Amino acid sequence: MAFVSEKINTLPPYLFSEFQKKKKALEEKGVDVIDLGIGAPDLPTPEFVIDRLVEEVRNPLNHRYSTYSGVKEFRQAVADFYKDHYKVDLDPDTEVLALIGSKEGIANLVQAVVNPGDTVLVPNPGYPVYRTAVHLAGANSVDLPLDAVNGYQPLFDQVSKNDAIKAKLMFLNYPSNPTAATVNSGVFLKAVSFARNHQMIVANDAAYDLVTFDDYQAPSILQAPEAKDYAVEFGSLSKSFNMTGWRIGYLVGNKTVVKALSTLKSNIDTSQFLPIQRAAATALKSDLETVKANNKVYQERMEKLLKAFHELGIEAERPKGTIFVWAKVPNKYTSESFANQLLEHAGVIVTPGSAFGSVGKGYIRIALSVTSNRLDEVIKRMKSMSIF
Ligand SMILES: *Cc1c(COP(=O)(O)O)cnc(C)c1O
Repeated sequence: MAFVSEKINTLPPYLFSEFQKKKKALEEKGVDVIDLGIGAPDLPTPEFVIDRLVEEVRNPLNHRYSTYSGVKEFRQAVADFYKDHYKVDLDPDTEVLALIGSKEGIANLVQAVVNPGDTVLVPNPGYPVYRTAVHLAGANSVDLPLDAVNGYQPLFDQVSKNDAIKAKLMFLNYPSNPTAATVNSGVFLKAVSFARNHQMIVANDAAYDLVTFDDYQAPSILQAPEAKDYAVEFGSLSKSFNMTGWRIGYLVGNKTVVKALSTLKSNIDTSQFLPIQRAAATALKSDLETVKANNKVYQERMEKLLKAFHELGIEAERPKGTIFVWAKVPNKYTSESFANQLLEHAGVIVTPGSAFGSVGKGYIRIALSVTSNRLDEVIKRMKSMSIF
């Protein structure tokens, strides 16, 4: 179609649309569909964050444009959070950039640092935005090798020499969506040294940095020595503070990369609404008790589901963080056919692993984004269907 660019015409189809169509059809027939496909928290934004927003909305000084890179209060709050939480020093003026949600930042980052035809290493399975952003930038994505057997730790040794030399950017995502894989700080040390050896940027997407269980604490890639020479990290308030619709996140790390994205964005947007930035600063400056309380809720749901999966004979690793369970589909199914089976016979939506890349085949992703009572209902329905 002449009205639509080749880049748009050649984008892969939006992954959830087919299931959403089926969901609607079932609901019209009166089926009570339970949606475990949506990767977003169901819990409300903490009260103290809403209070700050309301207060700031009433101040006319906040009805103006923000500075392009975000208001200083927000950037300072991000820097203080990195200092307190990770013992990482950041200059709020040159090493922190406010984003209108990290998704926007991820997509724009690719445009800001790669040229058409360049190579970008992308996790497979992974959050689809990395690959589509590379496509929109006219660059080529190459799989960063991941393997269930190794708990989806990045296998830098398995990147071909040619790809490693050509790559200009590499995405990592720990704690991970969709696999819920986590890493220890040693993996980030290796990532930075791989980036140094092949002179590329490494961007860790830390959307789930605070969504962790028991005593596991997700490391920051910026804790690796000399990380700031090669690394940047994306952060988001969406998952940790249940603020998905607010659209607020940040990029931190390497000054040159931060500046490049800031320059690109200053030609596209004018940052986020000031009251949202200030409310997000309040969230980051908090004692994180609300985050801990949310994590308890997710963990209870996760334990319940894992116990049921164990009884059903469905294999899944016990995650240390994120709001997802990544489970192996029973042998006679593909990820799509099992997801279809669950929708048609149990009225339950899950996401087929194949939607996140070829290496996700044979798995499904379950989002822990419904109440414990609804999960009981999911489990009851799954137990009454003949899966095997
Ligand atoms: C949800 C999610 C994001 C996007 O978060 P926003 O800040 O709301 O744009 C980014 N990366 C991953 C892996 C996610 O799951």
